[in-house]
Amino acid sequence: MPTINKDKVAHRYGTERLDLIEFYREVSLKVDDDPDYIVNNFLDSELVYGKLVADLERNNAMPSSTQNRCRVSESLAYGDPGALLATPSPSLSGAIIDEIGSKEQQVYFQNYVLENKCRTFFGVTEPNKGSDASNIETHQFEGKISGEKMLVGNAAAAGIGTILFRSQSKFLDMRAAIITPELLASEFIERSPLNMTIIRGCNLGYVRIKDMPLDEQYILGNHLGPMQQGIMSLIKVFNRFRPSVSAMAVGVAQAIVDHVQDNYANVISPYQLKLLEQEIELARQTNLDAARCVDTDPYAATPSSLAKIKCCAVAKKAAHTVNELLQEAVLFDPWLSKAVRDVYAFEWMEGTTNIHLNNISMGIKRNEFPCLQNS
Ligand SMILES: Cc1cc2nc3c(=O)[nH]c(=O)nc-3n(C[C@H](O)[C@H](O)[C@H](O)COP(=O)(O)OP(=O)(O)OC[C@H]3O[C@@H](n4cnc5c(N)ncnc54)[C@H](O)[C@@H]3O)c2cc1C
Repeated sequence: MPTINKDKVAHRYGTERLDLIEFYREVSLKVDDDPDYIVNNFLDSELVYGKLVADLERNNAMPSSTQNRCRVSESLAYGDPGALLATPSPSLSGAIIDEIGSKEQQVYFQNYVLENKCRTFFGVTEPNKGSDASNIETHQFEGKISGEKMLVGNAAAAGIGTILFRSQSKFLDMRAAIITPELLASEFIERSPLNMTIIRGCNLGYVRIKDMPLDEQYILGNHLGPMQQGIMSLIKVFNRFRPSVSAMAVGVAQAIVDHVQDNYANVISPYQLKLLEQEIELARQTNLDAARCVDTDPYAATPSSLAKIKCCAVAKKAAHTVNELLQEAVLFDPWLSKAVRDVYAFEWMEGTTNIHLNNISMGIKRNEFPCLQNS
């Protein structure tokens, strides 16, 4: 069973979440074999339930929530990112409902997740629209929704979720809706899990929706003006969550370095490890700075784009360096061999490097980097 060095982790992340970090590392390989492992065996454990309650509270907490969420995400991904994503949580659905849901919708969703201790999904990506999420094809016609969602975390296992769809083919027509347990069980929706080789706990799935009647009460944002009902609010939610994904990449990179330091110190030079540690620290601080910017201005996307590129790159570098130096030893260390694969998932979550480079170039054009104008 994989374990953590508790003294080291307590020194790094404090003791508040130490038990949960340890639990995630211990179940990491089981979850990699079976994404339902936590739900089937630990649904009533205080750790799992406590995490669910903390997530619901954190979604409502302001104003330093992005920075706080980064610290939590990093430490738990250090335990194991797959186990983290396989744990019941409101996740991004909770965030979008908190942002644009009515009070009744918030209470309905939170109560359902809490009472059923279930996982949730947030369906954006489609077979034909991945990075180009603002042009999704799932649409509403005469009150009925049709479309496909692909690569959606926990899509086939979740008890409740949310999807993005277009209400009409025109500007600002992006809307989000709660997909209730009743709709999920209806003949209008088909769901299936997808085979995965990395972060299997994420349990990516496919959803097909055909002529699904959607009650107005489940459409989010009806009480808001057109600018805040859809895309503008979604941008805020994505900006607030992107630093958490970057923090998860940092957490796994740090876990790899610590594991190598504790178990293979004779194979790798302390200078190489120190260099990796320093790069990880730089990525961590860049990301915390980005989180601070988002906490001040939820539309401040450029710093978090920069941070996401840096965090994903350092995680891949840690995995690559360890693979090169340890060679076949990695194959005989099941946790390490999983960790050096998992780092490649973060690139695809919350925007790829190419998309973030595009964001940064737009930021440069908007003169968000005045230092570049003088060079
Ligand atoms: C672990 C994991 C969890 C996920 N969870 C969810 C989830 O919960 N919900 C959800 O909806 N989706 C989820 N996704 C899907 C994720 O959002 C998509 O994979 C991502 O948006 C990229 O879309 P795509 O895979 O279709 O790739 P594409 O968009 O087809 O991109 C393929 C390549 O083309 C490049 N590219 C695309 N557009 C441009 C452009 N304009 N300029 C330059 N280069 C470009 C990309 O950088 C990439 O290298 C998850 C994916 C993973 C791996």
